[in-house]
Amino acid sequence: MTGIPAHRIRSVVQHALRSDGDYVLYWLVANRRGTHNFSLQYAVEWARKLAKPLVLFEPLWLDDPWTTDRHYQFVLEGMVDNERYFAEKPVTYYPYLELEQGRGKGLIEALAKNACLVISDDSPCFFSPQVLESVTSEISVRFELVDSNGLLPMRSSERVFSRAFDFRRYLQKNLREHLNDFPLSDPLAVGGIPPKVSLRPLIYRQWPITDLKPYARSKACLGKLSIDHGVGVLPIRGGTHAAGQLLQAFVQHKLERYLEVRNQPEENVSSGLSPYLHFGHISVHQVFLETVKHAGWDPGHLSEHVNGRATGWWGLHDAVERFLDQLITWRELGYNFCAFCPDYDQFETLPSWAQQTLEAHAGDSRPHVYSLGELENAGTHDPLWNAAQRQLRSEGRIHNYLRMLWGKKILKWSPSPRQALSRMIELNNKYALDGHNPNSYSGIGWVLGRYDRAWGPERQIFGKVRYMTSRNTARKVRVKHYLQRYASHDQ
Ligand SMILES: Cc1cc2nc3c(=O)[nH]c(=O)nc-3n(C[C@H](O)[C@H](O)[C@H](O)COP(=O)(O)OP(=O)(O)OC[C@H]3O[C@@H](n4cnc5c(N)ncnc54)[C@H](O)[C@@H]3O)c2cc1C
Repeated sequence: MTGIPAHRIRSVVQHALRSDGDYVLYWLVANRRGTHNFSLQYAVEWARKLAKPLVLFEPLWLDDPWTTDRHYQFVLEGMVDNERYFAEKPVTYYPYLELEQGRGKGLIEALAKNACLVISDDSPCFFSPQVLESVTSEISVRFELVDSNGLLPMRSSERVFSRAFDFRRYLQKNLREHLNDFPLSDPLAVGGIPPKVSLRPLIYRQWPITDLKPYARSKACLGKLSIDHGVGVLPIRGGTHAAGQLLQAFVQHKLERYLEVRNQPEENVSSGLSPYLHFGHISVHQVFLETVKHAGWDPGHLSEHVNGRATGWWGLHDAVERFLDQLITWRELGYNFCAFCPDYDQFETLPSWAQQTLEAHAGDSRPHVYSLGELENAGTHDPLWNAAQRQLRSEGRIHNYLRMLWGKKILKWSPSPRQALSRMIELNNKYALDGHNPNSYSGIGWVLGRYDRAWGPERQIFGKVRYMTSRNTARKVRVKHYLQRYASHDQ
């Protein structure tokens, strides 16, 4: 039946398809959008085949990890966008905001009970094996996950890549065939989807739909939810519409300078798309298509050379190639890792050379040791680090170059490398809008040696793990205005 590549579909619960169910259920988890979405496309295919209505269920739970005003507002903006978008489409969109802890209990089970099958998004961080295990016990019908994460299907190879170079070589050999397998830009435009239905009254009675807009727009409403209100909302808007605008602005005005000044913290030439990619408000396929359209690319430009280099394979300007390398090689490397290493946030998943050298230096004396609270409040002796931490708190992001330094200093100032790992995870995921993503764990893992090699000379605390200092950073990139900007600016 399917136009979806087989590698992208994974059966989780082997229960039978219930062809006398009321509807096909698509549960939006990581692809919170109506366009360029393989999961939605797959659900549409089933709805047409079974001649059953399609129900799209997009929940926001209170017990997700790192639930803060900042993250909730962003996701809620996306849900408001989706509500408007799906209202015009032949689907029943059912957004659910859990207003009190535990109120959403039983909802998945109740929705699945009347479904022919349940389809959701294959996402290593949103659907960890533990979450999947608890969810599957509630689903008594066929349940499948669809991978829309990257240009390369996440499970097309079971190999876990330990270097970007190897992964890039793999992509150069294998990505070509997947460039013909893109999701439809509008999977709901195909026709033949049965008219929308109402869910059973019991569902609306027990789990009523909330007016999302007040929650997305007002701090007072968010304040009623039992989430972390200490992490303030941001002036940037979530949702598919905002993501599309950002993408256009990036390809038209910034892409050209991406290579030249991407590493300069005082320049703002990167796309800013990571939170939108994280919550699935935009798809990597769309970002890729808009980028190469702007660059005048076609598949005939691809090089036959497989050399693992970051530029040269696409047959494009270096700035575009470098962007595609971040968007595809580096981003999908993280998905590859998290898909096959469920303990992706554990010290034991670091390369063995890194574990050994960090353990060997765990007892080294440390000139400065800060508590988590001191780090969180940007209270160190290092003005550049404090500035980066303040940017994280106030803007939900750190410029990529300084994000590396930020992590390296946490390693230096923590009582042990294991504590450094847990502190980076805590601070990154609590404040960064793009946190708790496979890229979070590759970035943080990189600080501790993942995807890197051993470096000499062997140093205190770091051992053979790559070392960075604020002084060298300030020599390499311009930071004067950055320091002024985030001098004592706090949320
Ligand atoms: C300590 C540390 C923590 C990090 N935590 C996160 C995180 O929580 N979430 C996150 O998305 N990224 C994280 N990164 C990677 C990187 O910093 C961000 O992806 C990037 O800065 C996002 O900005 P952008 O969208 O403007 O990127 P652009 O430069 O415009 O790149 C486009 C996209 O490519 C991907 N990308 C870019 N750089 C990287 C990279 N180094 N590794 C993997 N993917 C990349 C992202 O999806 C990004 O949105 C971390 C890096 C480090 C060193």
